[in-house]
Amino acid sequence: SSSIFAAVEMAPRDPILGLNEAFNADSRSTKVNLGVGVYFDDNGKIPLLGAVRSAEKTRLEAAPPRGYQPIEGPVAYNSAVQNLLFGADSAIIRDGRVVTAQALGGTGALRIGGDLIKRIVPGATVYISDPSWENHRALFEAAGFPVDTYPYYDPATRGANAEAMIAKLNTLPAGSVIVLHACCHNPTGADLTEAQWAEVVKACASRGLIPFLDMAYQGFADGIEPDAVAVNLFAASGLSFFVSSSFSKSFSLYGERVGALSIVTQTKDESARVLSQLKRVIRTNYSNPPIHGGAIVSAVLSTPTLRAEWEAELAGMRDRIRAMRTGLVDKLASRNIDQDFSFVIKQRGMFSYTGLTAAQVERMKDEFGIYAVGTGRICLAALNTKNLDYVADAIAAVVKG
Ligand code: PLP
Repeated sequence: SSSIFAAVEMAPRDPILGLNEAFNADSRSTKVNLGVGVYFDDNGKIPLLGAVRSAEKTRLEAAPPRGYQPIEGPVAYNSAVQNLLFGADSAIIRDGRVVTAQALGGTGALRIGGDLIKRIVPGATVYISDPSWENHRALFEAAGFPVDTYPYYDPATRGANAEAMIAKLNTLPAGSVIVLHACCHNPTGADLTEAQWAEVVKACASRGLIPFLDMAYQGFADGIEPDAVAVNLFAASGLSFFVSSSFSKSFSLYGERVGALSIVTQTKDESARVLSQLKRVIRTNYSNPPIHGGAIVSAVLSTPTLRAEWEAELAGMRDRIRAMRTGLVDKLASRNIDQDFSFVIKQRGMFSYTGLTAAQVERMKDEFGIYAVGTGRICLAALNTKNLDYVADAIAAVVKG
């Protein structure tokens, strides 16, 4: 008898997971995996934050029952998310113009947002930055949209090309969905300035675009508030827009899948109608969100001592990444190579587009056991005081040719 799966083809491997497999199989003790997208501490471990540990202990002792949550998640969590994104004194919160639903990480937030937009503006095209986090394209295509790009990265400056980006936005039809990295652009590390963000807001307003801000790294560039600069410019603009946010990185809670989708509308009445539609999307997908991660995040955010502890721990992660950026640049400067890597200090968040070619990345792997993405993206949070010299030596060796 023939199998119903006989004609199923093997799907292409996820490139980053493939990299991890190759890394795990490498027996060299000096190996380093710069391909990952998670924060490691100086010992190369994913931290369990002290604030999280305390909140978990309290929760375990309270032994709460495990009933279903509301479809959109609990009010306390959603309100904490809004305060973090828009500021506790935000006019859009006060006016009831923003609704939030707990989501399965930033990915889940993007997806329920995509599914909702598909119901409201079925003919839209989604535009993502060139380049972008790979899952942006796959995810919006899976939600049924054609996905195109807007120019973003300028290899000459290793920064963002805001002029080209805005010029493109100014050609797009009304109702186009524009996915924007709110801070700490993945994969390039190149962010827009506040003045450039203001221009992006203006373009979105004049063209009638649908901005969808992806905030996966709040607190990893300059701090919780400064990293919300783009979100707040949009909030002040009077436009309607979407924000997906994630606590995977900022709370080191990757596997708990804690995120949120916030939607800013024009009126409180619109908010109620939009939320009712979003709840249908969620209900038919996973019904309601899991309890644990969200409960921990909302306990930390609303308990002053835990909140202070978390903010200090977040600052610690941010500062360590910065120290690795300056450390790498300093070490490369002392390696006698004719290439200037000082741009690495200007890039923000977890990643850097180093400009290393695919061939150089390959050599780093073969000769040094240092694994990076073929695009030259490296994760600064995988560097530490023990491997920094080794990585600098390897980069210097491959750029010398
Ligand atoms: N958006 C961007 C730009 C990301 O880099 C990531 C994670 O790597 C996400 C969204 C998704 O985060 P989460 O793990 O919370 O789904």
